[in-house]
Amino acid sequence: MDDTKTMQASDHAHYLHPFTDHKALGERGVRVMVRGEGIYLWDSEGKKILDGMSGLWCVNLGYGRHSISKAVFEQMETLPFYNSFFNTTNVPAVKLAEKLARIAPPGFEHVFFTGSGSEANDTNVRMVRRYWDLKGQPQRHTIISRFNAYHGSTMAGASLGGMEGMHAQGGLPIPGIVHIRQPNYLEAGRGMSEDEFGIEAASWLEEKILDVGPEKVAAFIGEPIQGAGGVVIPPSTYWPEIQRICDKYGILIIADEVITGFGRTGQMFASELFGIKPDLITFAKGVTSGYIPLGGVLVGERVAEVLIGQGGEFAHGFTYSGHPVACAAALESIRILEEEKIVQRVREDTGPYLAQRFATLSDHPLVGYANSCGFVAGLNLVRRKGPTIHGHEYFDPKLEVGMVCRGYMFNNGMIMRAVGDRMIIAPPLIMTRGQIDEMVALIRRCLDDTYADLKQRG
Ligand code: PLP
Repeated sequence: MDDTKTMQASDHAHYLHPFTDHKALGERGVRVMVRGEGIYLWDSEGKKILDGMSGLWCVNLGYGRHSISKAVFEQMETLPFYNSFFNTTNVPAVKLAEKLARIAPPGFEHVFFTGSGSEANDTNVRMVRRYWDLKGQPQRHTIISRFNAYHGSTMAGASLGGMEGMHAQGGLPIPGIVHIRQPNYLEAGRGMSEDEFGIEAASWLEEKILDVGPEKVAAFIGEPIQGAGGVVIPPSTYWPEIQRICDKYGILIIADEVITGFGRTGQMFASELFGIKPDLITFAKGVTSGYIPLGGVLVGERVAEVLIGQGGEFAHGFTYSGHPVACAAALESIRILEEEKIVQRVREDTGPYLAQRFATLSDHPLVGYANSCGFVAGLNLVRRKGPTIHGHEYFDPKLEVGMVCRGYMFNNGMIMRAVGDRMIIAPPLIMTRGQIDEMVALIRRCLDDTYADLKQRG
């Protein structure tokens, strides 16, 4: 096998990584992952690591699923590619479209395939605008999203997203996309109950609609739980109120379920958990458990009726829309999800257990707030705890305490992501109770290391 130093040097010389400061990374070297099995990874130095992030929120079924690689191999041998442009199709794509219609919330009979979540959100922008054009309201093109949302890295995806750092590069957002604040109780809910705050945060949408002009608003897009923004779990009152407001003005709802889809919250789609009746659902990642790139948009009846019913071609698509090999991987992933009753297990057993075990971390002197929903969870690192969650004292962001903690996680054999000083996890859905115990113990050890480090620095 190539030795680690050679791989690191070659990586440094040639490979431009996504979201990486190469100058800061310098010659220190990246960690080279070489193998995965279940919830564990091994790096090139033989170190075993518990993958608390399912790769990048996607390897929901864990690593080393032989039946997925077999399905991929067999499809490669039978028909490695054919497109679905110009009145052609392929067998796995047809079967997957039908399967998705069966497992989607009621009213979703159609799917548009893409190669990724970003492409799926680009598709959403074009699809909702086409919908309103066909309805004879071409002025209705504005899409409302939220700050700190992540909807991908293409021009439209990054514009829909609300990451300031992304907008600052390349003159984003593109015209016709505006943002409201995210429903972050910890940040903005002081003096309110969570339920009151949910209603308040939803009212920011109505303010924006009135500001833009309801006759110009095409759609609202949101992740049921904001993932990359720091696992922001909204109060239970938030989404029903968003739904009410969108219904009032006839605005379409796009639920971006790239992270939350395929069981992560204990429902096949989190829209069902939060009481959202979306018109379009973005999916990717978990649909193939990350084994092969695939994304898409589930198209609800309101949009499908117009898009299909009015005739004419939707001038949009990708070479790899409905790629047979990716669709074969997805069919097998969904089969495993169903056969092993994984979504049900997360809902009824391991999800509540993870919630209970993760909450015990709140007693750590560094942890101000720990919460979870199904198999996503986060905790906030604080300098000093206050009497309520709105009374905590936080670290100077320049100290990058989250990154310090992430470093200890890595060194101790655990992957946990830092979003500022919020530490987040989204582990594979196959985790057992015993593995949850192991993970929580590892997190506690890393918190202790971080605490000791900070104390030493004063
Ligand atoms: N939407 C959400 C909610 C995501 O979390 C992501 C990726 O993390 C995307 C869209 C973009 O998906 P992709 O990276 O497959 O383009």
